[in-house]
Amino acid sequence: MKLPEKFIKETDSFFARHPEVPSEGFYESFDKIPLHGVRFSRTKTVPSQHEGLIKHIDPTFTALDPVEWCEGGYYLSEDTDDTRKTGRNPLYHAGVFYPQEPSAMLPAQVLSAKPGEIVLDLCAAPGGKACRIGEDLKGKGLLVANEINYERSKALLRNIERSGITNSVILNENPDNIAKRLPGFFDKILIDAPCSGEGMFRRDRSACASYEKYGPESIVPVQRSILDAADIMLREGGEIVYSTCTFCEEEDELMISSFIERHPSYQIIPHPEIKGITHNANGSMRVWPHMNRGDGHFCVHMVKGEKTARQTPISGYVRSNKPLKASERRGFDLAREFLADILTDAGLEEITRIPYTNHSGGVFLIDFDENLFKGLKVCKTGLYIGDSRLTSAGKSVFAPSNSLALTFSKEMIKPDRYLALGFDDPRLERYLKGETIQLMPDDGVTGNGTIVVGIGSAPLGFGKVGGTQIKNMYPKAWRLI
Ligand code: SAM
Repeated sequence: MKLPEKFIKETDSFFARHPEVPSEGFYESFDKIPLHGVRFSRTKTVPSQHEGLIKHIDPTFTALDPVEWCEGGYYLSEDTDDTRKTGRNPLYHAGVFYPQEPSAMLPAQVLSAKPGEIVLDLCAAPGGKACRIGEDLKGKGLLVANEINYERSKALLRNIERSGITNSVILNENPDNIAKRLPGFFDKILIDAPCSGEGMFRRDRSACASYEKYGPESIVPVQRSILDAADIMLREGGEIVYSTCTFCEEEDELMISSFIERHPSYQIIPHPEIKGITHNANGSMRVWPHMNRGDGHFCVHMVKGEKTARQTPISGYVRSNKPLKASERRGFDLAREFLADILTDAGLEEITRIPYTNHSGGVFLIDFDENLFKGLKVCKTGLYIGDSRLTSAGKSVFAPSNSLALTFSKEMIKPDRYLALGFDDPRLERYLKGETIQLMPDDGVTGNGTIVVGIGSAPLGFGKVGGTQIKNMYPKAWRLI
């Protein structure tokens, strides 16, 4: 492929300055077929299921080919076009897997969020890394996923909903505004920075045109200011992972050395245990397309001062469930009745342990005090579970949000309220297209009312049984066309 001349000049100069980095085969790597990958949700799957599941994603699958640096990450065969084929896959709609370029799986693995931590993904859309962080938190602690671009924040919201993460706040903010509002608040911050995108050239031909227009010169000051804002938001002893998908040293190693000069308490944490990537002498990491199995990527893990446990108890930020006015409680009571109809006692207990709150009729579950985010552009706080509506007969009913169904595991649902559709069942596609489907005698669903429809053990959404018909409740905006 024809690479931008400026890129070739800069990269030749990089290899001349760094004889320790082999250059042979680098330019040729841009003519190879880009690698595709998928990352299985570790909330919705266990590793022993992956082989059986990937056969439904990759039409020419022969054997599992794990991405060495990411648990649950696998390469797809070379001719699998990820956007065309995986985007229509029912397993994708159920949040069972996320299509992700293998190199892009590295930063969240390095960040390695732990349950109970307060984690910020500062440049989060479309959300592949945020979803992985959310899985790692296992419903405990908080994921704040921010995207500065409003249009892109919608994709982020959709991906977080699909993944079934309950404990997240989605912001559409400039990093400086979050820094002013929440200094020293976060345990961990991921900065998957906007960059000149050189690592994307072989995958996305438009990346070359964009590079010609906005090269490293325009993005370096932005990256510097994002890092400085992150420093303000990070608590002492907290950790930052900074990553880019470019080879440009000014955006990568030099960006980090100048950050550490400005903020000398930071130290790089090396990860020699991570195999399959290239480790730099200073502990930062690269994925080189001619030496490693992925597109170009840079990643570095830093700690602010001594790595310590949080000093401010997390309980200081947790909501106290203040008694609501009767009118406000009504929505939650209806939601509880609705949930009690479809969930087992243990399932009901699991979902209703999270404190609830009301926003303009909608019921949300969130552990954290929303006042923390006052003054910031908030796209969503916590889990929107639905709202109460008046029927034409004047009766209040609960209308669930489809994202609620995606947070359930099959075990949380009463067996006769769950319809498991198989891959070969023609009703599966019809359900995802929003059509009414038939209930069969051996489906195991009894009685009328709301049920959860899923693919195998992974819920997709709600439906309403009336006799032998299942009315489709899959949201219009989510349907297959
Ligand atoms: N982490 C994302 C993922 O895994 O799906 C990809 C992030 S992408 C590499 C970088 C993001 O930074 C873009 O969504 C872009 O809109 C956002 N961005 C651009 N300028 C920014 C700025 N000044 N501050 C914060 N984010 C910015």
